[in-house]
Amino acid sequence: MITVAEHLDSILRKVRPGQEVELDLQRAYGLVLTHDVVSEVDLPRFANSAMDGYAVRAQDVAEAGNEHPVLMPVLGDIRAGDTEQRVLVPGHAGRIMTCAPVPEGADTIVKVEDTDAHPREPKIRAAPEPGRHIRPAGEDLRVGDVVVAAGTTVGPAQVAALASAGIARVVVVGPVRVVVLSTGDELVPLGAPLASGQIVDSNGPMLAAAVRAAGFHTVHVGRLPDDPDRIRSEIDRHLRHADAIITTGGVSKGAYDEVKAVLSKQGAMSFPEVAMQPGKPQGFGVLGRRKVPVFTLPGNPVSALVSFEVFVRPALARRAGRRYTAPTHEAVVVQAWSSPEGKQQFARVVVESDTTGAYAVRPAGGGGSHLVGGLAGADALAVVPARTGEVAVGSMVQVQALRPWGEIEARLEAHAPPPADGSQDAPVGAGTRRGRHRSG
Ligand code: AMP
Ligand code: MG
Repeated sequence: MITVAEHLDSILRKVRPGQEVELDLQRAYGLVLTHDVVSEVDLPRFANSAMDGYAVRAQDVAEAGNEHPVLMPVLGDIRAGDTEQRVLVPGHAGRIMTCAPVPEGADTIVKVEDTDAHPREPKIRAAPEPGRHIRPAGEDLRVGDVVVAAGTTVGPAQVAALASAGIARVVVVGPVRVVVLSTGDELVPLGAPLASGQIVDSNGPMLAAAVRAAGFHTVHVGRLPDDPDRIRSEIDRHLRHADAIITTGGVSKGAYDEVKAVLSKQGAMSFPEVAMQPGKPQGFGVLGRRKVPVFTLPGNPVSALVSFEVFVRPALARRAGRRYTAPTHEAVVVQAWSSPEGKQQFARVVVESDTTGAYAVRPAGGGGSHLVGGLAGADALAVVPARTGEVAVGSMVQVQALRPWGEIEARLEAHAPPPADGSQDAPVGAGTRRGRHRSG
């Protein structure tokens, strides 16, 4: 048996980022830039007004004040989007709107609140210093500056910067297209009638959702019988186009565990027993000319989902050119459970908040790897070290979320008791209440 860390390490050493592609910026969300993107323009591109008001020469209004307003004749209006190259005549003002270009010769903006807002001859009641309320050209970025560095995942903020700099196309690691194959003679697709002895293929839809939750997408979600020829030909077919293949079932020690039997003949696959619960039988290899990572996960739904979170998700991130470590939170155990010694346990838990406001956990449903009903009620996986046998009340565990942590947090906030001192005004911020035990 190998440890979880050893198996993950050996997977990550073999997975390589996928091919570079050039895409429209609008399609690059969530993908990783492979090169520094350098600006060919200054940002802002031109000096513009930060306020609605009047563009003037500071020296022309230097004497202005509340008691001594200065009258300034307006030459014209300068609106946002104005494309004319305007020059300010000394002793005059331009009535200017936010974002409009500052005319040549003007060096300050009197905001409209410091005037009587007259459109043609306003009374100026303030004397702003040169540069006031002007956003200078190149203040944000200069020609030649890196807008977004190689290795960065394109999110909303990066899209804003790249779009502002006029970058319409970017080179990124291509989207990771995942194929999910459920294997087992007992499986029937969701919606089809079941004969006795048959079960619905839940792993396929579950893993498709997990792939999506992790920020990737599936291009095929299918089922296969325990038939070696069908398994071999389907995997070969998908190796031609997929960026990763995930199978479930058929990797234990049964007489019909054909996935392992078929793929064992491929030298690149290994089928270690991993010291973990659930998820002991694992299989991984990089197959085909395109070096596609292939994960053969155990068939039990809980084992398959835990295996996805622990091994597949970080590997898909690597395929996408990113790193991924599951964020963890520390929690106190409020109901004991046992853990197999010698195996790292990923126990399904419900997250609560204890009387001090710290995260607290108790087991969710039973421990069996087939218990999907209990799985649906679990918030997180408590990661119990291999040396621990009994997880005692009061001990601390690290948990990693099975749903967005913000949702768990919001539920705890909604059910939080009123502050102990009875004060309704006491700040009950998510960041402070459980801050003591927060680590991720
Ligand atoms: P296996 O690893 O093929 O021995 O499967 C282990 C257990 O997981 C068996 O009880 C299977 O019926 C169940 N199982 C396998 N594949 C699926 C699936 N796609 N959906 C739901 N349960 C499954
Ligand atoms: Mg099976």
